[in-house]
Amino acid sequence: MLMSGSEVAMGILKELVNKRVEMSSNPTLGIIRVGEKSNDLAYERSILKKFSDLNLSLKIFNLPADVSQKKFDEKFDEVNLDPAIHGILLFRPLPEELSDKHARATIKPDKDIDCMGYENIAKLFSGEPDGYAPCTAAAAMKILDFYKIDLNGKNVAVLGRSLVVGRPVASMLTTKNATVTLCHSKTKDLKSICQRSDIIITAMGKSNFLTSDYFNEHSIIIDVGINSYADGKLCGDVDFEKVSGKVAGITPVPGGVGAVTTSILALNVLKACLNSY
Ligand code: NAP
Repeated sequence: MLMSGSEVAMGILKELVNKRVEMSSNPTLGIIRVGEKSNDLAYERSILKKFSDLNLSLKIFNLPADVSQKKFDEKFDEVNLDPAIHGILLFRPLPEELSDKHARATIKPDKDIDCMGYENIAKLFSGEPDGYAPCTAAAAMKILDFYKIDLNGKNVAVLGRSLVVGRPVASMLTTKNATVTLCHSKTKDLKSICQRSDIIITAMGKSNFLTSDYFNEHSIIIDVGINSYADGKLCGDVDFEKVSGKVAGITPVPGGVGAVTTSILALNVLKACLNSY
C-alpha cells in the first residue's frame, strides 16, 4: 500500500477550510529564518504555497547568517510580543554560533505551534493533549491514523532521536500504547530491530540507507527523511524503489510526511488564532 501524504493532507484541508470560515480575523504565522539555507528555503516555499492556497497570512523575518546573539534574541522578543502574530516557526538548527536557548525559554506557549518551548514539550511528554506537538511528528502520527494502522501493543522502531522528530514521535506512540524502540547512531543491530518491528518510522537523514533486508512483507514504513541527490532530486531514508513492492505499507519521498507537515502547521496557526480571541 502506498501511503500518500497528499490524501492525508486533503482530509486535513476540509478541517482547515471549516475552521477558516468560522474566523473573522486573519490567522498569521511568523517565520524567523537566519541565513539562506537551502532546506529552510525549500520548507519556506512549501509553507508559502499552502498558506496562499488557504488565504492565511505569513510574515517572514529573515536575519543575516552572521547576526549577533543580542540582535537575534531582540528580534525573537519582538515577534513573540506582536499581537498580530498568532504562531511562530523558527527554522532550526540555527548557525553554530547562535543559541536558541532564549527563544525556547521565552516563547509564548500559545504561539509555540511547532513545540520548541519547554511548556509544550512537557505537555507532549506527559501525554497531555492540549499542547502543540512538533508538526513533523504530528504528521507521521496523522498518516498512521488516516490509514487506520492499529498501534495498540504494536512493536514500533523509531530511527532517530532528535527533539523535532524521533523523541516526540516515540512519546506519542507510547501514549497510543505502542511498544517503542528508539534507535540512534550507536544502536547495535538496527537491521534485526527493524525486521522484528511491525512499524518503522525513520528520521535519520541518510539517503536510501534502509534496504529491503531491513523489512518483511508485513512492515509498515513511515519515511520522514528528506535527503537530496547531487541533481537536487529528493529521496528518503528508505530505498523506495527496491522496498516499496515488498512491504505492507510505505510513504513516498517526496509526497509523504512533508506533504502533511505544512497542513498540520496551517491547522496549528488557525488553532492559535482561535485561542487568542
Ligand atoms: P537529526 O537531528 O540530524 O537527527 C538524526 C538522527 O538520526 C539522530 O538521532 C542520529 O543519531 C540518527 N542516526 C543517524 N545515523 C543513524 C544510523 N546509522 N542508525 C540509526 N540512527 C541514526 O535530524 P532531524 O532534524 O531529526 O531530521 C531527520 C530527517 O528528517 C532529515 O532527513 C530531515 O530532513 C527530515 N525532516 C523531515 C521533515 C518533514 O516534514 N518530512 C521535517 C523535519 C526533518 P544520533 O543522535 O546518535 O546522532
